[in-house]
Amino acid sequence: MFQALLVTKPDSGYRCDLTQLDEAQLPATGDVTVRVAWSTLNYKDGLAITGRSPVVRQFPLVPGIDLAGTVEQSDHPKWKKGDQVLLNGFGVGESHWGGLAQMARVKGDWLVRLPKGLSERDAMALGTAGYTAMLCVQALQRHWDAAGVAPGSGEVLVTGAGGGVGGVAIALLAQMGHTVVASTGRLEEADYLKSLGATEVIDRQSLSAAGKPLQKERWAGVVDSVGSHTLANAIASTRYGGALAACGLAQGMDLPASVAPFILRGVTLYGIDSVMAPMAQRESAWAQLARDLDHSKLAAITTEVALADAVGYGEKILAGQVRGRLVVNVNA
Ligand code: NDP
Repeated sequence: MFQALLVTKPDSGYRCDLTQLDEAQLPATGDVTVRVAWSTLNYKDGLAITGRSPVVRQFPLVPGIDLAGTVEQSDHPKWKKGDQVLLNGFGVGESHWGGLAQMARVKGDWLVRLPKGLSERDAMALGTAGYTAMLCVQALQRHWDAAGVAPGSGEVLVTGAGGGVGGVAIALLAQMGHTVVASTGRLEEADYLKSLGATEVIDRQSLSAAGKPLQKERWAGVVDSVGSHTLANAIASTRYGGALAACGLAQGMDLPASVAPFILRGVTLYGIDSVMAPMAQRESAWAQLARDLDHSKLAAITTEVALADAVGYGEKILAGQVRGRLVVNVNA
Protein backbone atom coordinates (compact mmCIF):
# COMPACT_ATOMS: atom_id res chain seq x y z
CA MET A 1 0.00 0.00 0.00
CA PHE A 2 1.15 3.57 -0.55
CA GLN A 3 -0.07 7.10 0.19
CA ALA A 4 -1.44 9.26 -2.62
CA LEU A 5 -3.75 12.12 -3.45
CA LEU A 6 -6.70 10.91 -5.51
CA VAL A 7 -9.06 13.07 -7.58
CA THR A 8 -12.54 11.58 -7.95
CA LYS A 9 -15.82 12.85 -9.38
CA PRO A 10 -18.67 11.28 -7.39
CA ASP A 11 -22.29 12.47 -7.91
CA SER A 12 -21.76 14.85 -4.97
CA GLY A 13 -19.08 16.77 -6.92
CA TYR A 14 -15.32 17.00 -7.54
CA ARG A 15 -13.02 15.76 -4.74
CA CYS A 16 -9.32 15.42 -4.00
CA ASP A 17 -8.41 13.34 -0.94
CA LEU A 18 -5.36 11.81 0.70
CA THR A 19 -5.82 8.05 0.52
CA GLN A 20 -4.08 4.65 0.60
CA LEU A 21 -3.73 2.79 -2.69
CA ASP A 22 -2.53 -0.68 -3.61
CA GLU A 23 0.39 -1.02 -6.05
CA ALA A 24 -1.86 -3.27 -8.14
CA GLN A 25 -4.02 -0.18 -8.84
CA LEU A 26 -1.17 1.66 -10.62
CA PRO A 27 -1.87 2.22 -14.34
CA ALA A 28 -1.06 -0.74 -16.57
CA THR A 29 0.02 1.60 -19.40
CA GLY A 30 3.42 2.37 -17.79
CA ASP A 31 6.57 0.26 -18.11
CA VAL A 32 8.59 1.71 -15.21
CA THR A 33 7.57 1.78 -11.53
CA VAL A 34 9.10 4.68 -9.61
CA ARG A 35 9.36 5.02 -5.83
CA VAL A 36 8.61 8.74 -5.57
CA ALA A 37 10.72 10.78 -3.13
CA TRP A 38 9.54 14.31 -3.88
CA SER A 39 6.86 15.99 -5.96
CA THR A 40 5.73 19.59 -6.41
CA LEU A 41 2.73 21.85 -6.68
CA ASN A 42 2.51 23.95 -9.82
CA TYR A 43 -0.31 26.24 -10.92
CA LYS A 44 -1.68 23.37 -13.05
CA ASP A 45 -1.67 21.05 -10.01
CA GLY A 46 -3.76 23.68 -8.21
CA LEU A 47 -6.27 23.45 -11.06
CA ALA A 48 -6.26 19.62 -10.90
CA ILE A 49 -6.68 19.51 -7.11
CA THR A 50 -9.50 22.07 -6.98
CA GLY A 51 -11.21 21.18 -10.28
CA ARG A 52 -11.26 24.91 -11.11
CA SER A 53 -10.31 24.09 -14.73
CA PRO A 54 -10.78 20.75 -16.50
CA VAL A 55 -7.13 19.66 -16.55
CA VAL A 56 -7.97 16.19 -15.18
CA ARG A 57 -8.98 14.03 -18.15
CA GLN A 58 -9.86 10.75 -16.40
CA PHE A 59 -11.23 9.70 -13.02
CA PRO A 60 -10.06 8.54 -10.57
CA LEU A 61 -6.62 10.15 -11.06
CA VAL A 62 -3.53 10.77 -8.96
CA PRO A 63 -2.61 14.42 -9.68
CA GLY A 64 0.94 15.81 -9.84
CA ILE A 65 2.63 16.81 -13.11
CA ASP A 66 6.14 16.33 -11.64
CA LEU A 67 7.97 13.63 -9.73
CA ALA A 68 11.49 12.65 -8.72
CA GLY A 69 12.48 9.31 -7.28
CA THR A 70 14.15 5.95 -7.82
CA VAL A 71 13.28 3.22 -10.30
CA GLU A 72 11.78 0.27 -8.44
CA GLN A 73 11.05 -1.98 -11.43
CA SER A 74 11.55 -1.52 -15.17
CA ASP A 75 10.53 -3.22 -18.42
CA HIS A 76 12.12 -0.35 -20.37
CA PRO A 77 15.61 -0.86 -21.85
CA LYS A 78 16.91 2.55 -20.71
CA TRP A 79 16.08 2.12 -16.99
CA LYS A 80 17.00 -0.30 -14.24
CA LYS A 81 16.19 -0.64 -10.54
CA GLY A 82 18.00 2.03 -8.52
CA ASP A 83 18.24 4.68 -11.28
CA GLN A 84 17.40 8.20 -10.07
CA VAL A 85 14.90 9.88 -12.37
CA LEU A 86 12.61 12.88 -12.73
CA LEU A 87 9.53 13.49 -14.85
CA ASN A 88 7.70 16.63 -16.00
CA GLY A 89 4.47 16.75 -17.98
CA PHE A 90 3.69 14.38 -20.88
CA GLY A 91 0.10 14.40 -19.57
CA VAL A 92 1.14 12.93 -16.22
CA GLY A 93 -1.19 14.32 -13.54
CA GLU A 94 -3.76 15.11 -16.27
CA SER A 95 -4.57 11.95 -18.26
CA HIS A 96 -2.10 9.54 -16.57
CA TRP A 97 -1.60 9.02 -12.81
CA GLY A 98 0.95 11.51 -11.51
CA GLY A 99 3.51 12.32 -8.87
CA LEU A 100 1.55 13.34 -5.76
CA ALA A 101 1.98 9.81 -4.39
CA GLN A 102 4.66 7.54 -2.98
CA MET A 103 4.58 5.27 -6.08
CA ALA A 104 4.04 5.92 -9.78
CA ARG A 105 3.95 3.75 -12.89
CA VAL A 106 4.94 5.71 -16.00
CA LYS A 107 6.41 5.30 -19.47
CA GLY A 108 10.19 5.02 -19.50
CA ASP A 109 10.25 7.31 -22.56
CA TRP A 110 9.00 10.16 -20.34
CA LEU A 111 11.76 9.92 -17.74
CA VAL A 112 14.84 12.15 -17.47
CA ARG A 113 17.92 10.95 -15.60
CA LEU A 114 18.49 13.09 -12.50
CA PRO A 115 21.38 15.35 -13.51
CA LYS A 116 24.59 15.33 -11.46
CA GLY A 117 24.61 18.22 -8.99
CA LEU A 118 20.86 18.11 -8.28
CA SER A 119 19.22 16.11 -5.51
CA GLU A 120 15.71 14.69 -5.98
CA ARG A 121 14.49 17.46 -3.67
CA ASP A 122 16.30 20.18 -5.69
CA ALA A 123 14.77 18.81 -8.89
CA MET A 124 11.28 19.08 -7.46
CA ALA A 125 11.96 22.45 -5.81
CA LEU A 126 12.46 23.49 -9.44
CA GLY A 127 9.75 21.25 -10.92
CA THR A 128 7.91 22.12 -14.12
CA ALA A 129 7.98 25.83 -13.22
CA GLY A 130 11.77 25.90 -12.90
CA TYR A 131 12.33 23.76 -15.97
CA THR A 132 9.97 26.03 -17.94
CA ALA A 133 11.85 29.11 -16.72
CA MET A 134 15.02 27.47 -18.05
CA LEU A 135 13.36 26.75 -21.43
CA CYS A 136 12.37 30.45 -21.60
CA VAL A 137 15.86 31.65 -20.72
CA GLN A 138 17.44 29.24 -23.23
CA ALA A 139 15.14 30.54 -26.00
CA LEU A 140 16.15 34.13 -25.21
CA GLN A 141 19.82 33.17 -24.92
CA ARG A 142 19.82 31.57 -28.38
CA HIS A 143 18.21 34.75 -29.73
CA TRP A 144 20.72 37.06 -28.04
CA ASP A 145 23.68 34.88 -29.10
CA ALA A 146 22.52 35.05 -32.74
CA ALA A 147 22.04 38.82 -32.50
CA GLY A 148 25.31 39.43 -30.64
CA VAL A 149 23.55 40.90 -27.58
CA ALA A 150 25.79 40.61 -24.51
CA PRO A 151 24.39 40.11 -20.98
CA GLY A 152 23.94 43.47 -19.27
CA SER A 153 23.50 45.43 -22.50
CA GLY A 154 19.76 45.78 -21.98
CA GLU A 155 17.07 45.26 -19.35
CA VAL A 156 15.17 41.95 -19.18
CA LEU A 157 11.60 41.95 -17.85
CA VAL A 158 10.25 39.02 -15.82
CA THR A 159 6.49 39.07 -15.21
CA GLY A 160 4.67 37.02 -12.55
CA ALA A 161 7.89 37.51 -10.60
CA GLY A 162 6.49 36.33 -7.26
CA GLY A 163 5.53 32.95 -8.75
CA GLY A 164 7.54 29.82 -9.51
CA VAL A 165 8.51 30.47 -13.14
CA GLY A 166 9.24 34.11 -12.31
CA GLY A 167 11.50 33.43 -9.33
CA VAL A 168 13.65 30.86 -11.13
CA ALA A 169 13.85 33.05 -14.27
CA ILE A 170 15.09 36.03 -12.22
CA ALA A 171 17.75 33.93 -10.48
CA LEU A 172 18.99 32.39 -13.74
CA LEU A 173 19.06 35.65 -15.73
CA ALA A 174 20.78 37.59 -12.94
CA GLN A 175 23.46 34.91 -12.59
CA MET A 176 24.10 35.10 -16.35
CA GLY A 177 24.82 38.81 -15.91
CA HIS A 178 21.55 40.27 -17.18
CA THR A 179 19.89 43.34 -15.68
CA VAL A 180 16.54 42.01 -14.49
CA VAL A 181 13.37 44.02 -13.85
CA ALA A 182 10.72 42.09 -11.88
CA SER A 183 7.01 42.82 -12.31
CA THR A 184 4.81 41.82 -9.38
CA GLY A 185 1.47 42.51 -7.74
CA ARG A 186 3.20 41.98 -4.38
CA LEU A 187 5.46 45.00 -3.95
CA GLU A 188 5.96 43.93 -0.31
CA GLU A 189 8.10 41.11 -1.77
CA ALA A 190 10.56 43.58 -3.36
CA ASP A 191 13.41 42.60 -1.00
CA TYR A 192 12.88 38.90 -1.82
CA LEU A 193 12.89 39.62 -5.57
CA LYS A 194 16.06 41.74 -5.23
CA SER A 195 17.70 38.94 -3.21
CA LEU A 196 17.10 36.67 -6.23
CA GLY A 197 18.87 39.18 -8.48
CA ALA A 198 16.30 41.74 -9.68
CA THR A 199 17.77 45.24 -9.95
CA GLU A 200 14.34 46.91 -10.06
CA VAL A 201 10.84 45.86 -9.02
CA ILE A 202 7.80 47.35 -10.79
CA ASP A 203 4.08 47.17 -10.01
CA ARG A 204 2.32 44.71 -12.32
CA GLN A 205 -0.53 47.25 -12.65
CA SER A 206 1.73 49.27 -14.94
CA LEU A 207 1.43 46.39 -17.46
CA SER A 208 -1.98 44.87 -16.82
CA ALA A 209 -4.37 47.33 -18.56
CA ALA A 210 -4.90 47.87 -22.29
CA GLY A 211 -1.99 49.92 -23.71
CA LYS A 212 -0.77 51.47 -26.97
CA PRO A 213 0.43 49.09 -29.72
CA LEU A 214 3.88 50.72 -29.78
CA GLN A 215 5.38 52.06 -26.56
CA LYS A 216 8.77 53.42 -25.51
CA GLU A 217 11.43 50.77 -26.30
CA ARG A 218 12.79 49.28 -23.08
CA TRP A 219 13.25 45.48 -22.92
CA ALA A 220 16.06 43.51 -24.57
CA GLY A 221 14.12 40.42 -23.55
CA VAL A 222 11.06 39.29 -21.60
CA VAL A 223 10.08 36.12 -19.72
CA ASP A 224 6.29 36.26 -19.44
CA SER A 225 4.17 33.85 -17.42
CA VAL A 226 1.13 36.16 -17.33
CA GLY A 227 -0.25 36.59 -20.91
CA SER A 228 -3.14 38.92 -21.83
CA HIS A 229 -2.57 42.73 -21.60
CA THR A 230 0.68 42.17 -19.67
CA LEU A 231 2.23 40.28 -22.58
CA ALA A 232 0.75 42.75 -25.10
CA ASN A 233 2.33 45.69 -23.26
CA ALA A 234 5.62 43.83 -22.93
CA ILE A 235 5.64 43.19 -26.70
CA ALA A 236 4.84 46.88 -27.32
CA SER A 237 7.80 48.02 -25.21
CA THR A 238 10.42 45.50 -26.40
CA ARG A 239 13.47 47.07 -28.04
CA TYR A 240 14.27 46.82 -31.74
CA GLY A 241 15.32 43.20 -32.46
CA GLY A 242 14.46 42.03 -28.93
CA ALA A 243 12.63 38.84 -27.97
CA LEU A 244 10.00 37.55 -25.57
CA ALA A 245 9.41 34.02 -24.25
CA ALA A 246 5.71 33.46 -23.47
CA CYS A 247 4.85 30.49 -21.27
CA GLY A 248 1.87 31.37 -19.09
CA LEU A 249 -1.61 32.75 -18.70
CA ALA A 250 -1.86 33.91 -15.06
CA GLN A 251 -3.71 37.07 -16.18
CA GLY A 252 -5.48 35.49 -19.16
CA MET A 253 -5.20 33.38 -22.28
CA ASP A 254 -5.96 36.28 -24.62
CA LEU A 255 -3.32 38.34 -26.39
CA PRO A 256 -4.81 41.75 -27.27
CA ALA A 257 -1.73 42.92 -29.18
CA SER A 258 -0.85 44.56 -32.51
CA VAL A 259 1.53 43.31 -35.20
CA ALA A 260 3.28 46.73 -35.14
CA PRO A 261 6.19 45.67 -32.84
CA PHE A 262 6.84 42.61 -35.05
CA ILE A 263 6.80 44.41 -38.41
CA LEU A 264 8.31 47.75 -37.34
CA ARG A 265 10.82 46.64 -34.68
CA GLY A 266 11.59 43.05 -35.70
CA VAL A 267 10.49 41.81 -32.28
CA THR A 268 10.35 38.00 -31.89
CA LEU A 269 7.83 36.13 -29.72
CA TYR A 270 8.86 32.60 -28.67
CA GLY A 271 6.18 30.20 -27.44
CA ILE A 272 7.35 27.87 -24.68
CA ASP A 273 5.75 24.48 -24.00
CA SER A 274 7.13 22.25 -21.29
CA VAL A 275 4.59 19.42 -21.48
CA MET A 276 5.50 17.84 -24.82
CA ALA A 277 8.98 19.37 -25.26
CA PRO A 278 11.35 16.92 -26.99
CA MET A 279 13.67 14.88 -24.75
CA ALA A 280 16.86 16.58 -26.00
CA GLN A 281 15.45 19.97 -25.00
CA ARG A 282 14.44 18.68 -21.55
CA GLU A 283 17.85 17.14 -20.91
CA SER A 284 19.59 20.33 -21.99
CA ALA A 285 17.38 22.47 -19.70
CA TRP A 286 17.92 20.17 -16.70
CA ALA A 287 21.68 20.00 -17.31
CA GLN A 288 21.90 23.79 -17.38
CA LEU A 289 19.78 24.10 -14.23
CA ALA A 290 22.11 21.66 -12.45
CA ARG A 291 25.18 23.53 -13.67
CA ASP A 292 24.16 27.18 -13.37
CA LEU A 293 21.51 27.72 -10.70
CA ASP A 294 22.78 29.02 -7.37
CA HIS A 295 21.47 26.61 -4.69
CA SER A 296 21.07 29.39 -2.11
CA LYS A 297 18.67 31.17 -4.48
CA LEU A 298 16.71 27.94 -4.98
CA ALA A 299 16.44 27.58 -1.20
CA ALA A 300 15.06 31.13 -0.94
CA ILE A 301 12.42 30.36 -3.59
CA THR A 302 11.27 27.06 -2.03
CA THR A 303 8.70 26.16 0.65
CA GLU A 304 8.37 22.50 1.71
CA VAL A 305 4.93 21.00 2.34
CA ALA A 306 3.74 17.52 3.31
CA LEU A 307 1.53 15.46 0.98
CA ALA A 308 -1.35 15.77 3.46
CA ASP A 309 -1.20 19.59 3.17
CA ALA A 310 -1.02 19.67 -0.63
CA VAL A 311 -4.80 19.88 -1.07
CA GLY A 312 -4.99 23.14 0.91
CA TYR A 313 -2.01 24.58 -0.96
CA GLY A 314 -3.81 23.85 -4.25
CA GLU A 315 -6.30 26.61 -3.36
CA LYS A 316 -3.53 28.97 -2.23
CA ILE A 317 -1.51 28.70 -5.43
CA LEU A 318 -4.58 29.62 -7.50
CA ALA A 319 -5.26 32.56 -5.19
CA GLY A 320 -1.72 33.89 -5.83
CA GLN A 321 -0.86 33.40 -2.14
CA VAL A 322 2.21 31.24 -2.73
CA ARG A 323 5.63 32.84 -3.11
CA GLY A 324 8.06 31.01 -5.36
CA ARG A 325 7.88 27.22 -5.40
CA LEU A 326 6.26 24.46 -3.34
CA VAL A 327 8.14 21.17 -3.00
CA VAL A 328 6.07 18.25 -1.69
CA ASN A 329 7.51 15.61 0.62
CA VAL A 330 5.34 12.62 -0.31
CA ASN A 331 6.81 10.57 2.56
CA ALA A 332 6.11 13.11 5.34
P1 NDP B 1 2.51 30.69 -9.92
O1 NDP B 1 1.12 30.64 -9.45
O2 NDP B 1 3.61 30.24 -9.04
O3 NDP B 1 2.87 32.20 -10.37
C1 NDP B 1 2.05 32.97 -11.18
C2 NDP B 1 2.29 34.43 -10.81
O4 NDP B 1 1.59 35.25 -11.76
C3 NDP B 1 1.72 34.82 -9.46
O5 NDP B 1 2.58 34.52 -8.41
C4 NDP B 1 1.55 36.31 -9.65
O6 NDP B 1 2.81 36.94 -9.43
C5 NDP B 1 1.20 36.45 -11.12
N1 NDP B 1 -0.24 36.63 -11.33
C6 NDP B 1 -1.24 35.88 -10.82
N2 NDP B 1 -2.43 36.36 -11.20
C7 NDP B 1 -2.18 37.44 -11.99
C8 NDP B 1 -3.00 38.37 -12.68
N3 NDP B 1 -4.33 38.29 -12.65
N4 NDP B 1 -2.39 39.34 -13.37
C9 NDP B 1 -1.04 39.46 -13.42
N5 NDP B 1 -0.23 38.61 -12.76
C10 NDP B 1 -0.78 37.60 -12.07
O7 NDP B 1 2.55 29.89 -11.28
P2 NDP B 1 3.82 29.34 -12.08
O8 NDP B 1 4.93 30.31 -11.97
O9 NDP B 1 4.07 27.94 -11.75
O10 NDP B 1 3.24 29.38 -13.56
C11 NDP B 1 3.01 30.63 -14.17
C12 NDP B 1 2.19 30.46 -15.42
O11 NDP B 1 2.92 29.70 -16.36
C13 NDP B 1 0.85 29.75 -15.20
O12 NDP B 1 -0.12 30.35 -16.04
C14 NDP B 1 1.15 28.33 -15.66
O13 NDP B 1 -0.02 27.67 -16.09
C15 NDP B 1 2.12 28.59 -16.80
N6 NDP B 1 3.02 27.48 -17.06
C16 NDP B 1 3.14 27.06 -18.34
C17 NDP B 1 4.01 26.07 -18.68
C18 NDP B 1 4.20 25.72 -20.10
O14 NDP B 1 4.59 24.60 -20.40
N7 NDP B 1 3.96 26.63 -21.02
C19 NDP B 1 4.74 25.33 -17.65
C20 NDP B 1 4.64 25.92 -16.31
C21 NDP B 1 3.77 26.94 -16.04
P3 NDP B 1 2.92 38.29 -8.59
O15 NDP B 1 2.21 38.06 -7.31
O16 NDP B 1 4.38 38.49 -8.45
O17 NDP B 1 2.26 39.38 -9.43
